[in-house]
Amino acid sequence: MTEYTTPIEDIKFVLEDVLDVYSHFEKYPKYEDVTPDLIDMVLTECGKFCETELAQLYQSGDEEGCQWHEGKVTTPKGFKQAYQNYTDGGWIGLAHPVEYDGQGLPPSIGLIRTEMIGTANWSWSMYPGLSVGAMNTLIEHGDEWQKKTFLPKLVQGAWSGTMCLTEAQCGTDLGLIRTKAEPQQDGSYRVTGSKIFISAGDHDLTENIIHIVLARVPGAPSGSRGISLFVVPKVVINEDSTLGEANGVSCGSIEHKMGIRGSSTVVLNFDDATGYLIGEENKGLEYMFTYMNTARIGIAIQGVCASELAYQASLPYAKDRLSMRSLTGKKEPEKQADPIIVHPDVRKMLLTQKAISEGGRAMIYYAGKIIDELENCSNEKDRKEIDDKLGFLTPILKGFLTEVGFESANHGLQVFGGHGYIKEWGLEQIVRDTRIATLYEGTTGIQALDLLGRKVLLQRNKPVKAFVQDILGFCKDHNMMSNNVHKRRMYKFISPLRKAAIKWQRNTLRIGIKAHKNRDMIGSASVDYMMYSGYIIMAYLWAMMAQKANERIAEKPDNIEFYRAKVRTAEFYFERIFPRIKSLGKTMLAGPESLMRITPEQL
Ligand SMILES: Cc1cc2nc3c(=O)[nH]c(=O)nc-3n(C[C@H](O)[C@H](O)[C@H](O)COP(=O)(O)OP(=O)(O)OC[C@H]3O[C@@H](n4cnc5c(N)ncnc54)[C@H](O)[C@@H]3O)c2cc1C
Repeated sequence: MTEYTTPIEDIKFVLEDVLDVYSHFEKYPKYEDVTPDLIDMVLTECGKFCETELAQLYQSGDEEGCQWHEGKVTTPKGFKQAYQNYTDGGWIGLAHPVEYDGQGLPPSIGLIRTEMIGTANWSWSMYPGLSVGAMNTLIEHGDEWQKKTFLPKLVQGAWSGTMCLTEAQCGTDLGLIRTKAEPQQDGSYRVTGSKIFISAGDHDLTENIIHIVLARVPGAPSGSRGISLFVVPKVVINEDSTLGEANGVSCGSIEHKMGIRGSSTVVLNFDDATGYLIGEENKGLEYMFTYMNTARIGIAIQGVCASELAYQASLPYAKDRLSMRSLTGKKEPEKQADPIIVHPDVRKMLLTQKAISEGGRAMIYYAGKIIDELENCSNEKDRKEIDDKLGFLTPILKGFLTEVGFESANHGLQVFGGHGYIKEWGLEQIVRDTRIATLYEGTTGIQALDLLGRKVLLQRNKPVKAFVQDILGFCKDHNMMSNNVHKRRMYKFISPLRKAAIKWQRNTLRIGIKAHKNRDMIGSASVDYMMYSGYIIMAYLWAMMAQKANERIAEKPDNIEFYRAKVRTAEFYFERIFPRIKSLGKTMLAGPESLMRITPEQL
């Protein structure tokens, strides 16, 4: 049975010590009420809800799954009540504008809420999670009528949202979309086509579902340049804002999945459904990127959630389960055998989970601060710079954190030995639930291509250079420090980080030169390059965490062991995980020849 305990001390360490968020919030007048007391209250209350309600539905939701009957989906027992309690608490609109009934907190705080509910029960969290993407798309690109009509209900949670991109013949290559949208005299469109794999596409939690749909208008150019974006409600909205009759949207079937069984994934058939164009025709894919960036960071969080939940389950098990004696002599002689936590290999699995959970959390919150900056920046040039940085980080967060999050969940299962494979412990569920994270919202391969192709090489390596400068600035600040003891303690982190950052820039250049001669170089290097970049960024965050923890240790606080654990985990990361960049550095530069020489027939 898995339990969830909100890691409030860890969350606050990153927020307050490492990222100094209160000075950051002070820069923005609209966050003047965002005080430490308020954030403490948010963390405590949301944590309570996650521990006492959502976590309790984690395993039962998986066992029961969603059910489809005559075109309607019902969610597992307890999901609806939990959703009602969540919306009553105003949690959906926590970080959405007050003018649409939101609470107006910074987006960075919204991400923490997402982490908490996602760790307690990922499947359940997908229902409100999909709404957040729909809201962000409408806020960014919707017209006044669309904002007024859909946003307050979405923000309150009375209605939920979806994202309808995938069709049977295409998921990655959205240029192949066939769903059609015919313009009508009244300015609306008639949408016809079939979408598959739609998360939260139908359920019994809300009275209406607002679908954001990609479709083609007549005469649109072929490929991705001819795609438009529509908002299509499940139930039509009357002029007086009341709910009208059912729209032409039906739920054809439900998918039977490997994991996230409490989250409904459905086939949606649009049959002359009334829809409204978002923005301009043929710019749909461009607009959809707003949705996708939000969603990609949301899925990156799934990696952290899985890692944290698996760690929380496997740590007490490792302290309790007895097996053989420690190689260095009995540790608990009064017992028949020592607990498995004495064995170095078990330690390695636990520490890997801890390093990934806490390092991943720091990476997400770091990105959250950038999202806050973006939301509050009105200067066009600065906005572009911030947006570029976020655009560069997003595929790394999504691709890297979901891959290492899955690895971490697997370690959690391994700590349990054969019992990890048995349902009742919940570990096999965490592994099954997490497997999807590297697939939806763009597979790992696609995130990696986006990173290396679009975000790095197409921009002449600018985002890497800028990020490397940030890291080198941090390393330089450390070298200027007057406290020699502190400087010595940090050397083991700063020195490899600095070398890796310089090499990152150099290796990017080398890939670019090779790609110039052979375009397959991009595809052959991309996933390794993305993982390589992820490990460097995680090292940067671990170095920051070690620095802050060392500063706190010097103050001899009551919870000094908490900070010592941070430094020791940073040491583990730098010694045991960070060196993976050496192998990745080699394979990413290897060139595509050994991949492309072999013919399909020989394969
Ligand atoms: C549980 C679940 C929930 C989902 N929720 C939603 C949702 O809410 N809305 C929605 O619209 N979709 C949703 N999806 C769809 C999901 O986003 C797609 O499955 C995913 O994007 C991959 O598309 P595909 O399955 O068509 O794979 P394909 O595009 O066929 O890809 C197959 C393989 O080929 C690789 N590949 C493809 N093209 C390239 C290339 N150019 N270079 C290198 N490798 C390539 C891919 O990485 C992958 O490994 C969901 C899917 C699942 C399983």
